[in-house]
Amino acid sequence: MLKSKKSGAGDMTIEHIDEIMDILKKELRDFETSQDRKWRKVRRTPFTVLISCILSLRTKDDITVDASMRLLSRYDTPEKILKASVEEIEKLIYPVGFYKTKARRIKEISRILLEKYDGRVPESFDELIRIKGIGRKTANIVMMYGFNKDDYLAIDTHCHRIPNRLGWISTKTPEETEKELKRKLPKKYWRDFNHLFVRFGQKICLPVSPKCSECPVRRFCKRVGVERHR
Ligand code: SF4
Repeated sequence: MLKSKKSGAGDMTIEHIDEIMDILKKELRDFETSQDRKWRKVRRTPFTVLISCILSLRTKDDITVDASMRLLSRYDTPEKILKASVEEIEKLIYPVGFYKTKARRIKEISRILLEKYDGRVPESFDELIRIKGIGRKTANIVMMYGFNKDDYLAIDTHCHRIPNRLGWISTKTPEETEKELKRKLPKKYWRDFNHLFVRFGQKICLPVSPKCSECPVRRFCKRVGVERHR
């Protein structure tokens, strides 16, 4: 599936990548989840992207969106968050996973942003991951969707699982996937990759029992590790 070929992004690229990305773009163009529609109502700033991403960790998308809307419709800046009590934040974000820990973390991050960064989210990946509670995935999402930067590749569970199934890469962790895809996936696709593969993973290449019989890129897929499918 992989062939040696120089690309702008690294030393190898993926065979048929243009065709695959083209097919997925067309196939998923009209697939909009109810979460997508709700997200449009949340004002997008680096801070709201950051907070939503923290809420999303180990939490289903629909729960994350509702919790983000409840919290951010009232408190959408670090200053405002600091005026809320931890208990109130807990109530607003419940039932996201680890809501008690996340409520405290959101307050702590807001305090750091105010004290160290003048109330702004730093426009730097390296600065972001220095803040306790912000990992690579969150920092990548903030750089991509909060600051509209093209040099970042955010890897969630779908973005990790599907390229491995396709046989593009063979990795164990999202961190390895990020590194490998940055070498193999042409940079022009980095921006589309996350939202496209999240949708693909929600609609067709499901975590358990993917819908291979209706998959538009089936002929390009090695189905690595796929034991059950339909
Ligand atoms: S053929 Fe199956 S495993 Fe491969 S990408 Fe499609 S749905 Fe996923």
